[in-house]
Amino acid sequence: MTTFQELGLNEALLKAVADLGFEKPSEIQDKAIPVLLSDDTDIVALAQTGTGKTAAFGFPLIQKTDFNNRQTQGLILSPTRELCMQIANELKLYAKHIPEFKSVAIYGGASISDQAAQVRRGAHVIVATPGRMQDMINRKMVDISNIRYCILDEADEMLNMGFYEDITNILSFTPENKNTWLFSATMPQEVSTIAKRFMKNPVEITIGSKNTSAKNIEHEFYVIQGRDRYIALKRLADVNPDIFSLVFCRTKRDTQQVAEKLIEDGYSAAALHGDLSQSQRDTVMKSFRGKQIQMLVATDVAARGIDVDDITHVINYQLPDEIETYTHRSGRTGRAGKSGVSMVIIAKSEVRKIKSIERIIKQTFKQKDIPTGIEICEVQLLHLANKIKQTHINHEIDRYLPTLQDLFVDDSKDELIKKFFSVEFTRFFDYYKKSKDINTQVATFKDFGDSESRSGGSVRYFINLGDRDGFDWMQLKDFLRESLELGRDDVYKVDVKDSFSFFNVDASHADKVTTFFENFAFKGRRVHIELSQNESKGRFSGGGRGESRGKGFSEGRRSKDFKKPSFGNNFDPAKKKDFGKKEKWSKKKY
Ligand code: AMP
Repeated sequence: MTTFQELGLNEALLKAVADLGFEKPSEIQDKAIPVLLSDDTDIVALAQTGTGKTAAFGFPLIQKTDFNNRQTQGLILSPTRELCMQIANELKLYAKHIPEFKSVAIYGGASISDQAAQVRRGAHVIVATPGRMQDMINRKMVDISNIRYCILDEADEMLNMGFYEDITNILSFTPENKNTWLFSATMPQEVSTIAKRFMKNPVEITIGSKNTSAKNIEHEFYVIQGRDRYIALKRLADVNPDIFSLVFCRTKRDTQQVAEKLIEDGYSAAALHGDLSQSQRDTVMKSFRGKQIQMLVATDVAARGIDVDDITHVINYQLPDEIETYTHRSGRTGRAGKSGVSMVIIAKSEVRKIKSIERIIKQTFKQKDIPTGIEICEVQLLHLANKIKQTHINHEIDRYLPTLQDLFVDDSKDELIKKFFSVEFTRFFDYYKKSKDINTQVATFKDFGDSESRSGGSVRYFINLGDRDGFDWMQLKDFLRESLELGRDDVYKVDVKDSFSFFNVDASHADKVTTFFENFAFKGRRVHIELSQNESKGRFSGGGRGESRGKGFSEGRRSKDFKKPSFGNNFDPAKKKDFGKKEKWSKKKY
């Protein structure tokens, strides 16, 4: 086993290593530090966040800095303000015993003149976001013409965020003979392009395999009806009593709604999205780091740069639009050698995306069932029992013991245990006793493929809008086409009944349908869609608009949907989502 001494770090840095409590180098440190210390070379290192990469470049950078020279010698570009601040903080810890070392973090959302003043006072290393760096170069507030090291941290994220131009532009202000150290979790085309264009014979270092997510992360997916998504989320939280999680939604609106709902339901949750001010964001992050928040609901953009160890679960409440983003989401757990779980809650129509993600992460997902109410009650009970078993006795209670003993003198040990646990157990039991199984059966991927081919690539839906809502088949078709932003003939076999209807779309549009109708309301009423159990005969196989369907289906379906309990909270997502949409459609007098 290599030690930090053997990597070649100097005394001051070794002292900092000891202060930080790092016992042995991580894999990336083991591979990168000796190369960076001994050679003046470019490197491309493929490593996830949480692998210790900041120290992998930070230690060599500090050790190679010439403290007799006041000029800026190192530039670290990183995608977000949070990451910038974290890197700058880490560097300060690494250089704790080197008082002459000066680094400055520059990022948007803070005073540019203050940052310029700090740079003027001396900055051996600048840690910057590309946008602010570009701005400061334009205003001649920084001089990077003599740097010796340029570090591109989380290069894939920076390029994802559209910083290609900024980065290339910034690099054009740096000297030819510098060394570039590029760190990236994945190796998409744009990162290779940067590496080819700006680097000379880089040494390649890979931790795990390329484009692979960390091995200590388990990937699970849960198939439910789109409308049960929130219930599924709550059950996943309840069945993991010690959860400390990051929940990803696709939009700011969903992020806000899910967080609000969780808070109303008694969870310690908060939202993190682009509409928060910087100070709101800082407050949320402080509470999350301090674990006062157990479930942080975030958009992908807002979650970039969240660097919190100990996240036990990443929950994909919705899958990202770009499946590559999944790697970044799941990489927020399983950090610093710990294990983690990345869960995906999906509707049946999205199951095929799991296969595509598996190809990217080169790991397989486990399909799991959302636990039933009684399973959750059991887990909670046993969790409490274990917690009690491990509880350190507070002897302040001793003086009350005689009174307590008097009170329970007639209760046997069994009765006492039962009463004691009933305090918590009954709360969960009452809540969950009537809950239903919300899993949707997708036996295997193969089965899913089969059903798709049986229906000729077409999916038939039930929707609880019909004649009594003012739709005839043509109006419903137009409504669906416009809402889903589909072409003229993309919605077909529209069959309108009194209070419900059926329609088909090609399987390739199924995701749009699921996403659009999740939490959608029409004239104040929640709209439900479901995959029709009645198989379509395919797009061009005739069949007209007449649907032959067993009576029981529609009646049963309706009553179940319309009487769905609200799970004990006042939040009505239907009302919220209705807000914008109603106006749009009321114009059409539906
Ligand atoms: P990073 O990948 O740089 O974001 O580091 C993730 C976390 O691991 C940070 O909290 C570091 O302080 C910590 N860390 C870095 N190197 C080591 C090490 N060799 N041993 C233990 N923890 C480390």
